[in-house]
Amino acid sequence: MIWLLPLITIGGLFYPILGYLVVAMMSFFITLAYFKGRYWCWNLCPRGAFLDIIISRLSLNRSLPRLFTKQWFRWLIFIFLMSFLIFRISRTGGSLLAIGFVFVIMCTITTIISILLGVSMKHRGWCMICPMGTLQDKIGKISKKR
Ligand code: SF4
Repeated sequence: MIWLLPLITIGGLFYPILGYLVVAMMSFFITLAYFKGRYWCWNLCPRGAFLDIIISRLSLNRSLPRLFTKQWFRWLIFIFLMSFLIFRISRTGGSLLAIGFVFVIMCTITTIISILLGVSMKHRGWCMICPMGTLQDKIGKISKKR
């Protein structure tokens, strides 16, 4: 699935409709999380694969800040990025291509952050605070309790 990452982040700049692949993946892993927790993160995520295969070779392998393990900090990142996403979508005027482009940009920005964190700290550093990981974690825990 690693090939999906350049397809969306580079291909999406020319074909914004590719941003809807992000929406499709989100719908899929949110459903999957209910049954299998973070299965997506460890087995299917294109960015996770990219971090494992490429960035792990370049990583300085330094410890992550303890802040990354705090739930409140992870939810703060979640709220911040989701608010940014909703704000950008609200400014598209309902254009399907513009909405697709918002998802492309979101995926590109978070990939750049994941590379910076991965190289300067642990290769999967981003996965500690990734909003989609936080969400799957929560859904998985709720379904487990049930
Ligand atoms: S935490 Fe985010 S980037 Fe990491 S594997 Fe999960 S969904 Fe992908």
